[in-house]
Amino acid sequence: MNFCTPTIKKGSRPVSEAFAALAAKAELDRADLVKLLSAKALDEIEAVRAEAERVLLAHCGEGVYLRGLVEASNACASDCLYCGIRKSNRDVNRYTLSLEDILSCARQCADMGYGSMVLQSGERADRKFLGLVEEAVLRIRDETRSEKQPDGLGITLCIGQQSYETYQRLYEAGAHRYLLRIESTNPKLFAQMHPADQTFQSRIDCLKMLRQIGYQVGTGVMIGLPGQTLEDLADDILFFDTLDIDMIGMGPFIPHPGTPMGDLPCPDVAERVRLALLMIAVARLKLKDVNIAATTALQALDPVGREKGLRAGANIIMPQMSPTDVRADYQLYPGKPCIEENATDCQSCLNMRIEFAGRKIGLYAWGDSAHARKRQNG
Ligand code: SF4
Repeated sequence: MNFCTPTIKKGSRPVSEAFAALAAKAELDRADLVKLLSAKALDEIEAVRAEAERVLLAHCGEGVYLRGLVEASNACASDCLYCGIRKSNRDVNRYTLSLEDILSCARQCADMGYGSMVLQSGERADRKFLGLVEEAVLRIRDETRSEKQPDGLGITLCIGQQSYETYQRLYEAGAHRYLLRIESTNPKLFAQMHPADQTFQSRIDCLKMLRQIGYQVGTGVMIGLPGQTLEDLADDILFFDTLDIDMIGMGPFIPHPGTPMGDLPCPDVAERVRLALLMIAVARLKLKDVNIAATTALQALDPVGREKGLRAGANIIMPQMSPTDVRADYQLYPGKPCIEENATDCQSCLNMRIEFAGRKIGLYAWGDSAHARKRQNG
């Protein structure tokens, strides 16, 4: 695997000419995406990766932007069949952070120069929790203003499917990005992973509502799902394009033993990592100026997975900022990294990882995607 080779001089690795030519095509169609995702030999993979890195630097620059991740609550009213904190999992120690805890994490993000944070939770529509989120958003924007960041932290919400009114209310409170992963755009795979009351169409409706309200919208998928094909993955990328998505967070499928999908056969770890990195690279080639996260799920399967993600075309990292004592309770998949570290440990580790990938950290900036900025500026 040659996604992360910062010690090797640029251009010193052999590349497949056929894959390099395909990756550089101006308009990639479905067949092209499938072909690029099929890269297996090292020179094929390197051709795709190198072109994706070139496209990233040309359209987004070398900055890597940070979103401090705060996991506000692991209580969830939903029952996704792959998820470690699904409501049926009785082995989870449920928690909800207090407003003061959330604000303290946000202040820490701001002090460290992370320009944005992600407030994530299980899917909850109860009034008490949504009130907490609204209050937190209002206060975070207000209390994290500084000379270096006069508008305060940028806030991304990731709290699942909600009503239009709720999305609107939270937008008005000051959240400006929303991440709602679709997990797979193949309706059959989606149905296999979700309870009957979570429909494919309702997820799409939510994504459209979010855009209509004015959010920058992010979505993403799992890679290496049981029964998933390269055509499915190509369709996922085309879906991001059709929905005019601003940011993408996707990572390898990691079966959780305490869930109904824990025992299903899926590609081996190396294959899932290869595919996940190729998805980042090929999504970059197709979409060019969106933000793409190098997710912690990649690092869970490969100790340098996030660096490899950056070198494959990602430009966002979400450092863990949840209080250390709850991190182990928020495990959508097993093997989540950074459970024992505190925010300062995570900061120095990340600085090193970003530099190792040959990139620069974008501090004190929201780091909105070039794609969203272009749309907003007409
Ligand atoms: S994936 Fe999200 S909505 Fe589904 S069970 Fe897990 S936390 Fe809840």
